[in-house]
Amino acid sequence: MKTHTQAVVIGGGVIGCSILYHLTKLGWNDVVLLERDELTSGSTWHAAANIHGLHDSANISRLQHYTMTLYNQLEEETGQSCGVFQPGSLYLAQTENREHQLRLQAAKAKLYGMNFHEINRDEAERLHPLVNFDGIRCIMYEPDGGNVDPSGVTNAYAVGARQKGAEIHRFTAVIGTEQQPDGSWIVRTNKGDIHTQWVINAAGLWGREVAALAGIELPLQPTEHQYFVTETIAEIDALDRRLPSVADRDGEYYLRQEGKGLLIGAYERDMRFWAEEGTPLDFAHDLFPDDLERIEENMMRAIDRVPLVGEAGIKRVINGPMIWTPDSNVVLGPVPELKNYFCCNGIIPGFSQSAGMGLMVAQWIIEGEMQYDMFGWDMARFGLWANDKKFVKAKVEDVYAHRFAIHYPNEERAAGRPLRTRPAYEMQKGMGAVFGLNYGWEHPLWFADQPETVDTNGFTRQNWWEPVGRECRMLRDHVGVIDISNFAKYQVKGAGAEEWLNSVFANTMPKVVGRSCLTPLIGVRGGIAGDATVTRVSEDEFWVVSSGMAERYQKRFYDTVELPEGTTFTSMTDAMCGFNVAGPKSRDLLQRLTNTSLATEDFPFMRSKMIDLAGVNCLALRVSFTGDLGWELHCKAEDQARLYEALIDGAKALEGGPVGSRALMSLRVEKGYGSWSREYSPEYWPHEVGLERLCKMQKDFLNKAACADVLAQPAREQLVLVHVNEDDVSMSNSDATGGEPIFKDGEGIGRVTSGTYGYTVGMSLALGYIKAGTALPGDDVEVMILGKSHRGIILHEPPFDPKGERLRA
Ligand SMILES: Cc1cc2nc3c(=O)[nH]c(=O)nc-3n(C[C@H](O)[C@H](O)[C@H](O)COP(=O)(O)OP(=O)(O)OC[C@H]3O[C@@H](n4cnc5c(N)ncnc54)[C@H](O)[C@@H]3O)c2cc1C
Repeated sequence: MKTHTQAVVIGGGVIGCSILYHLTKLGWNDVVLLERDELTSGSTWHAAANIHGLHDSANISRLQHYTMTLYNQLEEETGQSCGVFQPGSLYLAQTENREHQLRLQAAKAKLYGMNFHEINRDEAERLHPLVNFDGIRCIMYEPDGGNVDPSGVTNAYAVGARQKGAEIHRFTAVIGTEQQPDGSWIVRTNKGDIHTQWVINAAGLWGREVAALAGIELPLQPTEHQYFVTETIAEIDALDRRLPSVADRDGEYYLRQEGKGLLIGAYERDMRFWAEEGTPLDFAHDLFPDDLERIEENMMRAIDRVPLVGEAGIKRVINGPMIWTPDSNVVLGPVPELKNYFCCNGIIPGFSQSAGMGLMVAQWIIEGEMQYDMFGWDMARFGLWANDKKFVKAKVEDVYAHRFAIHYPNEERAAGRPLRTRPAYEMQKGMGAVFGLNYGWEHPLWFADQPETVDTNGFTRQNWWEPVGRECRMLRDHVGVIDISNFAKYQVKGAGAEEWLNSVFANTMPKVVGRSCLTPLIGVRGGIAGDATVTRVSEDEFWVVSSGMAERYQKRFYDTVELPEGTTFTSMTDAMCGFNVAGPKSRDLLQRLTNTSLATEDFPFMRSKMIDLAGVNCLALRVSFTGDLGWELHCKAEDQARLYEALIDGAKALEGGPVGSRALMSLRVEKGYGSWSREYSPEYWPHEVGLERLCKMQKDFLNKAACADVLAQPAREQLVLVHVNEDDVSMSNSDATGGEPIFKDGEGIGRVTSGTYGYTVGMSLALGYIKAGTALPGDDVEVMILGKSHRGIILHEPPFDPKGERLRA
């Protein structure tokens, strides 16, 4: 065994082996994988190993598509069979909402060049004569769907990696990982130590135990999961071809051919946790006792759909463990609090995603960043707050039991909440607030007439649609108070604060006390890793406000630039709260609560002051994400409730009141403002988002060379605002929400990033990216809302206050 290497991958399941393979594929050949037992000894060996290409997330679809394509190439490259069967997959919709979901996926497939299309019942019956299609509203067909052999795939990755120089050591358990002062690691095993630059935790079911060796916790919890295989079915035996798999997700089971019988698996409501106190170290090729009673309801639905299942005997039952995160997506990425420690844990569709995941890990480690925006996979979407065991269990129970449920746009699930609340929470609850979860915090989405109201969910306009409109109009006509405590807030203090901020952010920091600037944070590939408002509050102190959900993600960037001696960078997100008070009467409202003059000449746009507001000391910034006249106010958390009460009382006296974040979303789209994780992401270049003028190339900043490199190239895409045809929107009763493809003359040219109804401009709006040069302002396009064509026109300018007169009033 080597004693020095570039990377040690811990775990020889399908994911560890794919990571090893992709590291070598991208040019790192001096790499080692350590497996405590045989390869595949965790969840991998007993998986049903179904593979699917389509996913609600476009980037995950791309990576699943890559994975399915790679399996065939791997066989050729390595000579090792992956046991790939691709008889296709049938996706069935029993409900209107499932039909909407499938039609939207079909539209996305067309945009991204994937094969997923509707077929009629005759065609479906020809493809799968054993299925009873009664009650099915729509059938989609994915010709590449199927399944693979779990050990075949894992071994193919292993062979491919070895061919390129990687070492694999089986029966070699990692028993310690120790960080060295230079950031490298010593990995201790039962067979000796290895000094490595990077540690990659791909220990599957033992992800928590391996993380603990490095002193970290991960939000993971294993569960049991069952499927069974029937005896030979004569009708299948008589066929000279393989049957397609069946994704009848409304029935909450999966079904495919296995041998000459069928394999049926289920995510049952009455689920079981396993290994709550830790995964036993002596567990390997083991299974749990059968418990088919638990999945009986799901089985009955499968029998209704394929009656022959009810007549076939059961040959084999597999009840094995799998390990989940709170939202069922992988936790992937370098641990922000450690150097050179990478996690890739909690993977459910390992066989649909293994290659995409391995590629993303290898890109991140070797090239410094992934090619796609995969924030939905990034472990930094969870803070340390997510390690709360009760929260993790509640979430895992929910995601397991609803594995095949439709996850609607704007859906907020109740499980595990509330986890983190602010002092004004109870007051807001009493005022009818319906809350959402943002980086663990409860924050008001909208205000209902009655307390305890909950969101209804669906693809069409829901119970919040009208009330949110009332909030928008109230703010634009009078004044609204929006709780923005979930924004990330930082204090940078000390003689070197300006210098440090200038070396991190792309814009030049304000020279004059009281001034603010907007600035991009540039990613490793030159894209937009963040956007922030930076305010100089004193000679040696700056206040930075950025996206709340990106706090741990952006920490990785901040940590790469050393702070000058005596200068501090402190997150104030927990300690401070904030409100956005906006609308034409916002000045009147605030002026009644403070002696500081808020007149335009005394307090112009993009300026800040410390002010006393209703007896509460606040940092007031004259900025507003609503695009309207307004201020952001930041106060100590203990003063939040007092300030809120004063603001709400004052607003009510002016025909205003509380406004939630759904209204904020609509208001900012009316103004054409982008938002992090939707319009701003590392995938987009500054000139594609319209932020190039904020990148000051005459000074140094983080990833400046990459920024210069992309700015020297023509924009690949451009951000546009589309007005969607009112008649079409009325017919479908649905606005765009994000992700919908945009077509022009039948050609896919882009996709929506944020969609909403613009209540105060009376337009259904969609912000999105289109390929550069494919359409111009004034051109007609089609937006595929619910997968159906909706006419749209690209706007020349945002419909609300295009000249910024309200903002600067
Ligand atoms: C019943 C069932 C059906 C499934 N069906 C499907 C399906 O149809 N499609 C699909 O895509 N996915 C399916 N899955 C999920 C799939 O199995 C997982 O996503 C996948 O196997 C995860 O692989 P992994 O490499 O992350 O983890 P694991 O397979 O758990 O591998 C982790 C490896 O790390 C090793 N290890 C742990 N600790 C150490 C240590 N200290 N030192 C060295 N080595 C260590 C372990 O021995 C193990 O081999 C199913 C799972 C189950 C349980």
